[in-house]
Amino acid sequence: MGQITLSSVTKVFGDVTVIPPLDLTINDGEFVVFVGPSGCGKSTLLRLIAGLEDTSSGKILIDGQDATDAAPAKRGLAMVFQSYALYPHMSVRKNIAFPLKMAGASVEEQNRKVENAARILNLSSYLERRPGQLSGGQRQRVAIGRAIVREPAAFLFDEPLSNLDAALRVTMRQEISELHQNLKTTMIYVTHDQVEAMTMADKIVVLNAGRIEQVGSPLELYRNPQNLFVAGFIGSPK
Ligand code: ADP
Ligand code: MG
Repeated sequence: MGQITLSSVTKVFGDVTVIPPLDLTINDGEFVVFVGPSGCGKSTLLRLIAGLEDTSSGKILIDGQDATDAAPAKRGLAMVFQSYALYPHMSVRKNIAFPLKMAGASVEEQNRKVENAARILNLSSYLERRPGQLSGGQRQRVAIGRAIVREPAAFLFDEPLSNLDAALRVTMRQEISELHQNLKTTMIYVTHDQVEAMTMADKIVVLNAGRIEQVGSPLELYRNPQNLFVAGFIGSPK
């Protein structure tokens, strides 16, 4: 569960090629960070994997199955949106249960999975509150809870912390890393922040204008950047 393979995937908007042919394998259980400057195609690549954008060509395999043309809900992946995507008029319980309800789960199943996710995220005593009665960090955890209940093959995060203040970002980074250690589920995390990439990733994918400049562990990229772009971006001395 949770292996994702991109094979010669491209994305063209109008006459602009945003992703030239790209190959990438993400292994089951890995924490993979897509990093690169604004506009380099990180979100587009994540949205292609999620199925929120159609590929222009190429193939996407999820656990060996061809998912290139599969609807987002059929891919078994969960995108974590920023906390402001919560429903303000619904309780935390209902916000987290929402995808289960949409999938037709019984109330018992909804409650069991919501309470399990709340335990993992330290939200058990907040389930009857509304998002407006929570701190920024708690709201972000609710957004993650909504992904956890779906028991996805992989979690997809697109700059989930960018609207939090600096101190909270550090805490949430740590919480997401701990969540990965607990669940051992594949996570793909998009950021333009090198520090986030270096501290969270098992594997970093450095993107520049839709191309992969280098793939490697934080240590490999730091010790042996393959070119000046990677060296400059990661901040190592080459
Ligand atoms: P990042 O997330 O790394 O900042 P994006 O994936 O959002 O980058 O965007 C990559 C490039 O694709 C940008 O030049 C952006 O303007 C372009 N782009 C993204 N989405 C669309 C779209 N729906 N239509 C046209 N161009 C787009
Ligand atoms: Mg983006």
